[in-house]
Amino acid sequence: CGIVGYIGKRDVAPLLLEGLQRLEYRGYDSAGIALHGSGTGRAGGLRTAKAKGRVRDLEAKLPPRFAGTAGIAHTRWATHGAPSDENAHPHLDDAGRVAVVHNGIIDNAAELRARLTAAGVVFASETDTEVLAHLIGRAEAETLEEKVRHALRHIEGTYGIAVLHAGFPDRIVVARNGSPVVLGIGEKEMFVSSDVAALVSHTRQVITLDDGEMATLTADDYRTYTTEGSRTAAAPTTVEWEA
Ligand code: GLU
Repeated sequence: CGIVGYIGKRDVAPLLLEGLQRLEYRGYDSAGIALHGSGTGRAGGLRTAKAKGRVRDLEAKLPPRFAGTAGIAHTRWATHGAPSDENAHPHLDDAGRVAVVHNGIIDNAAELRARLTAAGVVFASETDTEVLAHLIGRAEAETLEEKVRHALRHIEGTYGIAVLHAGFPDRIVVARNGSPVVLGIGEKEMFVSSDVAALVSHTRQVITLDDGEMATLTADDYRTYTTEGSRTAAAPTTVEWEA
């Protein structure tokens, strides 16, 4: 239903919660966050928090020192699998190295799930979305962009996605096919959302992705390209918005 993502210098969890609250008007049944852990004395890695219910239920469930400067978040409107903590996004691959939030419906999810299960993958949810996390985790490619591209080749259906990977903590990769993805361009910080309403309190400089388009966000740059990998020229436009 709703996607929010951020990469920059600020503490990401409060920013993502605020973004999710701005999307509450759209309706949802559960919410969740994944971030690249930092400042905790740990060696980094992905951390997640998920909850059935409202954004404030998620907020109440955040683990201590849930800190970082890059993360993605989601409000879910269930299509595959009942509303529950487990079915809330983000979904991880079985190695816990890939986190995906997804709006839309994967039409061939049952077939992909059967194939992955036969290959030894253990699923943690009933969602269509989780197949994407496993496909990205198992993709044989050097870059995160390539891994996502390989995974998307298997997908039939609609998606707006945002992806984190433990091995690529400097970036968020996003893609769109039939479900909106808007980039928000800041000063040494980048935002993404499915809805401009979650961006305008931070930046008015936005880029709306086209279907078949992907983007990479780093703290100080962004790049857009097609799912086949050729660069696209997307210049930010200034959005007018009465708060
Ligand atoms: N199909 C996905 C699910 O059921 C995403 C639903 C949504 O767009 O929120 O989890």
